[in-house]
Amino acid sequence: MEDGVGESLDFVREKVRDDIASDRFGGRVQTRFPPEPNGYLHIGHAKSIYLNFGIADEFEGTCPLRFDDTNPETEDTAFVDAIIEDIEWLGVEPHGEPRFASDYFGQLYDWAEALIRKGLAYVDDQDAETISEQRGGFGQPGIESPYRNRSVEENLNLFRGMRDGRFYDGSKVLRAKIDMQADNMWLRDPVMYRIRRIPHHRTGSEWIIYPTYDWAHGQSDAIEGTTHSICTLEFADHRPLYDWFLSHLDLPTDKPEQTEFARLNLTHTVMSKRVLRSLVEHGQVSGWDDPQMPTVRGMRRRGYPPAAIRAFVDRVGVAKTNSTVEIELLESFVRTELNETALRRMAVLKPLKVVLTNWPEGEVEWMDVVNNPQDPESGTREVPFTGELWIEQDDFRLDPPPKYYRLTPGREVRLRNAYFVTATDVITDPAGEVVQVNCTYDPATRGGTAPDGRKVKSTMHWVSAAHAGAAQVNLYERLFADSHPGIDGADPLASLNPNAREVCEARLEPALDDVRPGEVVQFERLGYFAADLDDPGVFHRTVGLRDEWANIQKRKQAG
Ligand code: ATP
Ligand code: MG
Repeated sequence: MEDGVGESLDFVREKVRDDIASDRFGGRVQTRFPPEPNGYLHIGHAKSIYLNFGIADEFEGTCPLRFDDTNPETEDTAFVDAIIEDIEWLGVEPHGEPRFASDYFGQLYDWAEALIRKGLAYVDDQDAETISEQRGGFGQPGIESPYRNRSVEENLNLFRGMRDGRFYDGSKVLRAKIDMQADNMWLRDPVMYRIRRIPHHRTGSEWIIYPTYDWAHGQSDAIEGTTHSICTLEFADHRPLYDWFLSHLDLPTDKPEQTEFARLNLTHTVMSKRVLRSLVEHGQVSGWDDPQMPTVRGMRRRGYPPAAIRAFVDRVGVAKTNSTVEIELLESFVRTELNETALRRMAVLKPLKVVLTNWPEGEVEWMDVVNNPQDPESGTREVPFTGELWIEQDDFRLDPPPKYYRLTPGREVRLRNAYFVTATDVITDPAGEVVQVNCTYDPATRGGTAPDGRKVKSTMHWVSAAHAGAAQVNLYERLFADSHPGIDGADPLASLNPNAREVCEARLEPALDDVRPGEVVQFERLGYFAADLDDPGVFHRTVGLRDEWANIQKRKQAG
């Protein structure tokens, strides 16, 4: 798939290009990213962010950040701050200061009065349930409210009364007067304002009436001079209403136009804020920034580089129909990026002691080891090698199964960047578990090759016991066992993987003392691991080394 200007454009970019060519909007391009500050951003939002900011960038337009903060019940300034921080981390820069739909409450109110004056809005005294019942349904007629034909005077008076606190919460709403028989349900006299005596995170108790999403969104776009209002497909049905409102107002700018694209869905992942919140509330994860969360903060703690997220989003492209992308594709972009940038280090996750019985007592040899073979500039480091080492428990078998080529009594293997060693005997505990493997090493094989040309079938990583640091290393499997958690109305939480996280007490080579918070390194043979952002004693497995995506593609081709 090709991306970017000049290559094959997606349909949204094609539209923007055509609008520029036809001088629509005077050649201007302005998009926006409009989050509601009621939760943290997730990878789906990242898609919308890279699309909106990407288009502004590519077509020399602008893209401000606007908080759609019309619902005081669920919104909070803490979310505002977190969203600003996450957007910065994703590497895009909003145009100007952040804006807020709540900054426009005054203008929205005036425009509502203007619609009332035109006979296009009315105050309804019915409760929410009645209004909802009267809406009817597809192929079912709507029922007009008995209050629908109030005079302009009466409506203005009542609407001002709503604003001024003369009525109880929920006792009246303002509705647009459109068409109760419209095929499009959104045109059946939608609610524009509700009375709610709930303090707002920015306007405090200044307002007790709050605009609905539909009344606020398009008008906020227009106030800001948005040209291309890009949103997800579920808003396609709202578009006639978006246009209806704008066409009845005296706008300061050209009428913005809404275009919808398919949301990003990922296998083994949920993006619903409600489900993510319940994971946090039920303690299934440690918080919104748990490395297992598909949130921007979670991915950050997990060690996903923003460049990889962006490359993934570009690759997925912009579609007109919803689909679900395999999470392995995202992981593959993460791995590709980290392969270029991550330093190689040695760590042992499940340590087993190895003693070299012919090693000179107390001797330490410093091995000069390459930091990243993909990046010669990254240089080398000194790694201490001694007669007492840690290796992985999995790298030794007393009774090896067929085709097991790693260490086993009598067999010679290579310790990476060091020597050939041969296992001679083991020490077991009272339960018969091997707790130590005794080996001899061949001093002629320093650096990992034998002068007589003899070969070994496996190479293993190791850490010198006397020099080893300790850390907690968290390994992650899929948080949801189902590829499509929650599909067909199932409870997504029912498919939570109880073994999603495994904790190891690992041993680390000394160079890992210098790792920075959030830095990702490759533990040789094991995968990529991110140093925790806050706790220097914790690492998270970002992604393993095997390219599962390539395997899936091969299987698809074969099948
Ligand atoms: P809610 O489920 O609470 O409505 P939301 O996920 O739609 O939340 P918003 O804060 O309203 O969150 O979204 C901000 C922008 O991000 C919107 O333009 C929305 O369409 C877009 N967006 C949200 N989820 C996705 C997704 N999965 N893929 C692409 N864009 C998304
Ligand atoms: Mg939304």
